[in-house]
Amino acid sequence: MRAMSTLSFWGAAGTVTGSKYLIETGRARVLIDCGLFQGGHDLRDRNWQEPPFNAASVDAVIITHAHIDHTGYLPRFVNHGFRGPVYCSAGTADLMKILLPDSARLQEEDADYRNRHKITKHLPALPLYTEQDARETLKLLQVVPNNGAPVRVVKNIEAEFRIAGHILGSSQVLVRINGDQEPRTVLFSGDLGKYDQPIIGDPEPPPACDYLLIESTYGDRLHDIEPPKEALERIIKNAAARNSVVLIPAFAVGRAQELVYLIRELEDEKRIPIIPVILDSPMAALATQAYAARKEEHDEDYAQALKRSPTPLRTHSMTTASSREESKRLNSAQGARVIISASGMMNGGRVLHHALRVLPDENATVVFVGYQAAGTLGRRVADGEKQVKVLGQWISVRCATEKIGGFSAHADWKEVIRWLEGLPASPKRVFVTHGEVGSAGAMAAHLRERFNWQVEVPQYGEKASLE
Ligand SMILES: [Zn+2]
Repeated sequence: MRAMSTLSFWGAAGTVTGSKYLIETGRARVLIDCGLFQGGHDLRDRNWQEPPFNAASVDAVIITHAHIDHTGYLPRFVNHGFRGPVYCSAGTADLMKILLPDSARLQEEDADYRNRHKITKHLPALPLYTEQDARETLKLLQVVPNNGAPVRVVKNIEAEFRIAGHILGSSQVLVRINGDQEPRTVLFSGDLGKYDQPIIGDPEPPPACDYLLIESTYGDRLHDIEPPKEALERIIKNAAARNSVVLIPAFAVGRAQELVYLIRELEDEKRIPIIPVILDSPMAALATQAYAARKEEHDEDYAQALKRSPTPLRTHSMTTASSREESKRLNSAQGARVIISASGMMNGGRVLHHALRVLPDENATVVFVGYQAAGTLGRRVADGEKQVKVLGQWISVRCATEKIGGFSAHADWKEVIRWLEGLPASPKRVFVTHGEVGSAGAMAAHLRERFNWQVEVPQYGEKASLE
């Protein structure tokens, strides 16, 4: 009797973070993405629980892209005994080498800060993992092409990686399970990019598949009509006129590069005055180098910009703070300026130190350029809460807030449908993942209406048969 193959959902089910999907056949276990849960306590507590499956028993991990909500659990997983290969694209490997050690440092700094300021419930507070764990994890990376060529993952499982257009290296992954019967295929959309996003190319059309997992971050929303470049122009001009500070919490990888690229374009086109731009993220500078180096992923516009200037990823008055001291010094600077700092949802990192100063400043503006998950400081401020807790202190929010929706690195629901229209045939079963409950439900409804598919919204821990 043949063993049944299954797919189970251990993250990004009913939420956007913690992506982890486990494929089990009679002969192998492969995990697709190994992300950290972010957001409220209940979600973050899952990072601390024992893994829901034995880490040592997993044969291989496949990574769709480098964002921490897709990779940030790996060092913990390795710490729990995982020793197999981790397959990813070259761009993803570049970025993981930057992101994972940084994630570990943030975990260590956070534990240290809590211990020093005695704001921990557990004494002493421990990091989820250390930089050493992150380094051990990076040794397991196996770079594979993302041009659709089949790659052998383990005994009976192959995978094909294709550009997903979300961030550098991001891939949609088709997993093929070979066995005694007909092979079965499962397509993981990963995080799907917008069309015409700056710097990197558009999502490749999806290949045919039996089972489809589709992300739904923006399943219930469409992006703003105002193009992000125009929104930035308006906000920066305004800040220059009022001599005030603009704080943009941004992912150091992807979003920070897009912001800098668009500000540079606005400066070159003389649409905004040149004011200091502070990229306060040691990691963003490294990520910028990776973006600049991976020419094979650049879109046509970026290739053109590169012909005009060797440094399209620098503004005309830009500083990057590399040390903590430098960052603190910049914090006390005055006058019109733009500060770009991570993390993008204000749930950790240097942006919190800026937040302490900027949020109570009624002259200042905080600009949200990315998705703000429920429970994060970014979400609270974006939702208009007037009192928030930052690094253990209650502070008043008096600054103005802006949201630039069009900046998202995620396709909205209409763009997801546009992408899926490229499928050569209907899948047998469709699973909507990577969305909060409301947006996953809305995406499922859109797909039923447009394609008449059988669509399911799996719950955390749910298991589906792949027969
Ligand atoms: Zn992502």
